[in-house]
Amino acid sequence: MDTSASIVQEVILEELKENNVRLFVKRDDLIHRYISGNKWRKLKYNVELAKQCNHQGILTFGGAHSNHLVATAAACEAENLKCIGLVRGDELNSESNETLKDCSSMGMNLKFASREIYRQRYERIWHEELRREFPNFMIVPEGGANYYGIIGCQEILKETEVDFDHVFVAQGTTTTSCGLLLGIDQSVQLHVVPALRGFDSIREMKELLEESGIPEDEWHDKLYQVKAHEEYNFGGYGKVTDDLKSFVEEF
Ligand SMILES: *Cc1c(COP(=O)(O)O)cnc(C)c1O
Repeated sequence: MDTSASIVQEVILEELKENNVRLFVKRDDLIHRYISGNKWRKLKYNVELAKQCNHQGILTFGGAHSNHLVATAAACEAENLKCIGLVRGDELNSESNETLKDCSSMGMNLKFASREIYRQRYERIWHEELRREFPNFMIVPEGGANYYGIIGCQEILKETEVDFDHVFVAQGTTTTSCGLLLGIDQSVQLHVVPALRGFDSIREMKELLEESGIPEDEWHDKLYQVKAHEEYNFGGYGKVTDDLKSFVEEF
C-alpha cells in the first residue's frame, strides 16, 4: 500500500489567520478507499509479519461496525492472506450491515461470538483455543492494538517535514496516539480526544505501551507531552449532537 498519497494539507480559515494559527491535516484518509488511514498503518507490520512467518492469514476481533475489520479484510485481500473476523454479537450475520457485508465480500470469514465470549478477547485461554482451531493464523488484537500497530503509526508524522507544535488525534484503542507519541519531538504536545466516555487516556496509553513490550525508558517521560480532552465525546462512542453534526458539515 502506498502511503505517499497521505499529503499534509493546510486548512485556510479566516479565524485561524486572525489568531495567527496554522492548521494542517495529515490526509491519511487518502491512502485507500476501504482501509481508512490509520487502520492501514496499524496493519502494515502485522501483515508483513504474517507473510514472513508463512501464516495462512490473520485472525482479529471487532464490533459490528468495526473499521478495523474492514481494513483487515481489504489488507488481507490485497496481500493474498486469508482472514477471520471474530465479531461481537451472535445475533448478527454477514448481511447485518454494510460493514459486515464489505468484510465478507472481500473474503473475510466472519464468526459471531456472544458478548460474553467476546469479552474474553484478551484472554490467553481463548487465544489458545483459537490457535488450536485455526493453527496457521496470526492473532491480531482488536483495533490492531499491538507493538506492530504502534510502530506503523509512528511513521505517520515521521514522513512529514512540517514542524508541528501541537498534534491532535482521536482515540479508540490508543494505538494511533501511542505511535504518534513515539514519533514526535520532545517539544511537541500531543492532544488526544477519546471517543469513549470516562476513558482514562494516559493510563490506557501506558498500559498498551507496557503490554506491547516497548522499553519504558522510550516512552515514560513522553507521556507528559500528552494532554487528554475527555469533554469531546459528545455523550459516548458513536454519539453525535446537532452541534457536532453542523460543525463537521461546515468544516
Ligand atoms: C480508528 C480511528 C481512530 C482511533 O484509533 P486508535 O488507534 O484505535 O486509538 C482515530 N481516528 C480515526 C479517523 C479512526 O478511524
